[in-house]
Amino acid sequence: MSQNVFDDDKKTLTLDDFMKNGTQERDNLGDQVPIMVYRLLEYAIRQVLEERFGKEEQQRIFREGGFRAGEYFTKNFLDITLPVNEFLAQLHQELEVLKMGVLRIEELDEDTGRFMMTIAEDADCSGLPVMGEAVCNYDEGFLSGVLTTYTGKAYTVKEVDCWATGDRVCRFRAEVSEGAARSCHGR
Ligand SMILES: [Zn+2]
Repeated sequence: MSQNVFDDDKKTLTLDDFMKNGTQERDNLGDQVPIMVYRLLEYAIRQVLEERFGKEEQQRIFREGGFRAGEYFTKNFLDITLPVNEFLAQLHQELEVLKMGVLRIEELDEDTGRFMMTIAEDADCSGLPVMGEAVCNYDEGFLSGVLTTYTGKAYTVKEVDCWATGDRVCRFRAEVSEGAARSCHGR
């Protein structure tokens, strides 16, 4: 049997450790939870972060967390060697299989690398009341992590429409950050 990392209380666990251990152990309840439980976790933490650190910092933390999740997701669920259209088709499929949302690419400028994309039935915000501001900062970070990992160029992603701004889908603009490039996977 492989060693269980949770036995070693001196080890600082990484996102990898948490994701690769213990998700198969729910014999009766299985590997899914209702969307309400996901949102209870997300919005409770959001509230605490905003109370402690203010709205701007809360949004930054959600974006950074989303970025790490998107990076992990891309490395573990997607094939980054695929050409762009096939990669986006695979991304669409995986997001749907995992019930995170239904991705649609509205525009892609291959010269500048700029995207406009929508996510319908988004796990984070579909059905929320109008709050006058986009709330999917985690998704902004997540998509940024996916595109940065795939292209090796630093991407900034901004949500421009959201259920919480009165729209029926979330719409994101993705652009290569000025002057910033990094090599994540040697491409
Ligand atoms: Zn949204």
